[in-house]
Amino acid sequence: MRPPDELIFRRDEFRCAYCDLDGKLFENWVFLCVDHFKPQSRGGDDKMENLKTSCVSCNHMKGAQQFPDLASARAEIQKYRTDMRRIWGDHLNTPTAPEVQR
Ligand SMILES: [Zn+2]
Repeated sequence: MRPPDELIFRRDEFRCAYCDLDGKLFENWVFLCVDHFKPQSRGGDDKMENLKTSCVSCNHMKGAQQFPDLASARAEIQKYRTDMRRIWGDHLNTPTAPEVQR
């Protein structure tokens, strides 16, 4: 049986294993979830060792990819974030971007 999410969060000190988002702040805590480091679709189980506190963004970016270790996963996710930030900067955060209607 899968351990309760809170047990994983507490073990990981409410911090995303991939980007270090601090889930001790309520505004961040609402974005925490539990990630299967070895994805369930690849045979990952519900043991404590395979469960990691993650934010939903990192969980989404990691998807069903499998990594040899946590450092590799963190590096890959950081790369995605850097790419996404560049895309955001190039296309969304420019004076020519359409104004948001309020
Ligand atoms: Zn994260």
